[in-house]
Amino acid sequence: MSDDLDDRPIERPDSSAFRRLPPVHAVLGRPELAEAIEAKGRETVLGVVRAVLDEARAAIARGVDPTAVDDDDAVIRSVCERLEQDRPTLRPVINATGVLLHTGLGRAPLAREAVEAVARVAVGYSNLEFDLDQGTRGRRSIGVAALLRRLTGAEAAAVVNNNAGATMLALRALAKGREVIVSRGQLVEIGGSYRLPEVFESSGARLHEVGTTNKTRLGDYERAIGPETAALLRVHPSNYRIVGFTESVGIAELAKLGRSRGILTIDDIGSGALGPGRPPGIVGEPTVAEAIEAGADLVLCSGDKLLGGPQCGLLIGRAEVVRRIEADPMMRALRVDKMTLAALEATLRLAMDPDRAARSIPLWRFLSVPVERLGDRAGRLADRLRGSMGLAATSEGAFAYLGGGSAPDEAIASACVRIEPPLPGRWATAAEASRALRLGTPGVVCRVQHGALWFDLRAVFEEDDEVIVQAIDALVRG
Ligand SMILES: *Cc1c(COP(=O)(O)O)cnc(C)c1O
Repeated sequence: MSDDLDDRPIERPDSSAFRRLPPVHAVLGRPELAEAIEAKGRETVLGVVRAVLDEARAAIARGVDPTAVDDDDAVIRSVCERLEQDRPTLRPVINATGVLLHTGLGRAPLAREAVEAVARVAVGYSNLEFDLDQGTRGRRSIGVAALLRRLTGAEAAAVVNNNAGATMLALRALAKGREVIVSRGQLVEIGGSYRLPEVFESSGARLHEVGTTNKTRLGDYERAIGPETAALLRVHPSNYRIVGFTESVGIAELAKLGRSRGILTIDDIGSGALGPGRPPGIVGEPTVAEAIEAGADLVLCSGDKLLGGPQCGLLIGRAEVVRRIEADPMMRALRVDKMTLAALEATLRLAMDPDRAARSIPLWRFLSVPVERLGDRAGRLADRLRGSMGLAATSEGAFAYLGGGSAPDEAIASACVRIEPPLPGRWATAAEASRALRLGTPGVVCRVQHGALWFDLRAVFEEDDEVIVQAIDALVRG
């Protein structure tokens, strides 16, 4: 120990301060905590009470002025505050960003029908892999495969955890140790963690790049085909566009070439509208049905992009190709659980009827709301924020985007509420106010643009307009 440490004055804890702290059982018995005990369990609340009392004792021992913690009410207040902050880590938010398939916010919200289907199989047992008719082992994706066949006209279908998994599995099962030819203009990166060359590496298939970034012709593929070639892969440039002097080969031409040379053609269409119906207003994105019709042997896509279903990857195509994929040991590692299957089956049933899908699948519903209606909602919200809260709020036209790596240049007309800071209270800047809104219950996630808060209504459920008003009200009242 150094001398100067020894020289420090010793603060003597005030022992009466310790005695003034209430005992654990007295705090637990307080009526203010009854509801929390009911909701979170006695053990959880007990843990928080102990932690608060321990900290109070430690503070007193350090000689900190104990007046802040020396009465029951202060302890109860701390316990209640702590319990309020003890929310689930994964929790609902309102998406006012204007990005419909926001990967950070969980991509597609599920239809009520899908949620109910999940609840039905999740609370008890189900015939996940059991043939109720025969009383023998059954196949887990039999129901969704039948629906996918009907929706796309394909012979067979399989489901895995996501499209990254579908791509890796397809490359592995169909081309491990061999070559797959891909255009240089289609080596996509999606969301930072999905990069096609890396997916190739982990699959064991070899990537054979052809053409240039902006131009790849049929002859480039033709010349690249050799004895090592297992497949031709086309990848939809979901989240970018190559513009200017460009050339790429369509799936029909590619499939024709593949067939004539006895190799497979795989089409990763990405966002995955199945067809024949498409989400309202979406014109540029390919559908699975089109790719199958054009002759692709296998089509890959995500379940939680344009289909508006649960996170999963769909592999749809010729029966013999899907059989080889299902026989791969990696299939077992990537398979989906009963909750995903239930949500997917319910979503596919809705997708069978495009009118019903547009009413029931949230993504489709968001896309089908006329912009005038969004403008009316934004106008009403801005009026209330101006009138009762005195905020500098206006209603503005804006553009929303699909997101999730889909249709990057397809701007969707939308409407926003714009609030110009400062907001009353301690909210001098939009960044501070938007952080507080994100941390509320439920969190509201908006855009901060040119120093103002923008709440885009394209991906906001109409009943949540009121929740946004209340969140802002709570914020400015402090
Ligand atoms: C989104 C996307 C993927 C990745 O799909 P996940 O379901 O996110 O794994 C792969 N390829 C394309 C073309 C995509 O658009």
